[in-house]
Amino acid sequence: MNYSSALARIATDLDHLVEDGATDAVARRAAWTAALDQPMPEEGVGAEAVLDEIASTLIPNGSRLCDPRFWGWVVSAPGPVAVAATAAASVAASQRYTINAFNLLEEVSLTWLADLCGLDSARMRGVYSSGGSVANLVALGAARQWAFEQRGIDPAAEGVGGTPVAIYASEETHHTVHRAAAVLGLGRSCVRPIPVDDQQQMRPGELAAALARDVAAGVLPVAVVANAGTTNTGAIDPLLAVGTIAHEHDVWFHIDGAYGLLGVLDDRISHRYQGVELADSAIVDPHKWLSAPTGIAATFVRDRAILHRAFTQEPAPYLETIFAGDGLEIQTSIEQVGIPYSEFGVELSAPPRGSVVWSILRELGRSGVADRIRKDNDHARRVADLSEAHPRLELLAAPALSITCFRYNASGIADLDGFNEALYYRLIRETPYLPSTTRVRGALALRPCFINGRTTPEHVDGMIEAVVAIGDSMLAG
Ligand SMILES: *Cc1c(COP(=O)(O)O)cnc(C)c1O
Repeated sequence: MNYSSALARIATDLDHLVEDGATDAVARRAAWTAALDQPMPEEGVGAEAVLDEIASTLIPNGSRLCDPRFWGWVVSAPGPVAVAATAAASVAASQRYTINAFNLLEEVSLTWLADLCGLDSARMRGVYSSGGSVANLVALGAARQWAFEQRGIDPAAEGVGGTPVAIYASEETHHTVHRAAAVLGLGRSCVRPIPVDDQQQMRPGELAAALARDVAAGVLPVAVVANAGTTNTGAIDPLLAVGTIAHEHDVWFHIDGAYGLLGVLDDRISHRYQGVELADSAIVDPHKWLSAPTGIAATFVRDRAILHRAFTQEPAPYLETIFAGDGLEIQTSIEQVGIPYSEFGVELSAPPRGSVVWSILRELGRSGVADRIRKDNDHARRVADLSEAHPRLELLAAPALSITCFRYNASGIADLDGFNEALYYRLIRETPYLPSTTRVRGALALRPCFINGRTTPEHVDGMIEAVVAIGDSMLAG
């Protein structure tokens, strides 16, 4: 068995899945569970048989996250070029290190990505990791390092001791920030939830007040975190005001742009990103709006030396020769790791994710990515317009980006949350449309998030019609 026949064996099944839409695996759950939940074989079945099983049992019973009508999480099916790049990298450069073409693209693509996101790529240097969770952890690790160093402490070497600390983030902030605080030894409870306004954006005045309170009480502020696109509603915090307040207090300014940092490419809203240039760190997930395969995020930090101090493993004998050799005239690709990315984060072994990001950006170019972002934002706008125009739909959160929160609402419904929850389950059980739900100011909302390039306006209209039809029938029944 060689690569070409193995990949060819499953390629048409993948085409079929993405072009025709995944059918729901739960209907056939007993069959694939019985086929797959087997004892570990003593003798292998051989390559052909496994590929047959992948094609016939796995792919058609995969998840529906690749469907252009799946709008629940911030995911979509990766494009064919990105999948090919992933396959190529897994064989041709299974690690991001050593001097080779894939390794070069790690840095090239980080620079492109920083530029694309409106970051100053000459100043903001990056490192890839597996997702926004780790990317936030790495960024806040840099913030922790810098904040403690101001007090003469190296937290990576010595630990954080009992110093009281705080991280400031809006109430709408993704909980990976809290988990990062936990992992970094700061504790989830150090995250101060800053109240938001009626557009789910952090109130800068509340931030300033919280900082002043803490500083007066001797608490060490570690970071101010702003959202460039919350996961709930796509809200963009007032970055310029928030970043300015952070810097007035000499506090690290971090932007969580896992989902929405690329929104800066939509020129209708790019002014909302003013203040990005103040960021000490920022993250973006290519596996979200760039539709890279899951497992790719980037952290950018104003000085990678801070990351190095925060995440160094210290020299180890098994890495001696490849991590040394700076200034040495190298003669083979294996004599050097190249840029020591493993010292900038929490992963040593890691694939060359940059080559995948490069393949996407090279294929689409800046204008191709911008077109996709605009189109997705248009879908969200369309949901908002249709909701506002319809007598029995209510817009709960106008879209800042490609997320809209709305619900069914008619007089005579006593329990709107219960009604919309029941409507939601009927929607995902009886129709092909798969938004998620969230809460907006306490109210249960239907929440489509558009990032799948295959989604069309007809899909969007279909969902709205389905919501109205189900709501009407529930109201009548
Ligand atoms: C998705 C998301 C995260 C977490 O990213 P993962 O890649 O799922 O780990 C963090 N912050 C925001 C704003 C997100 O949308």
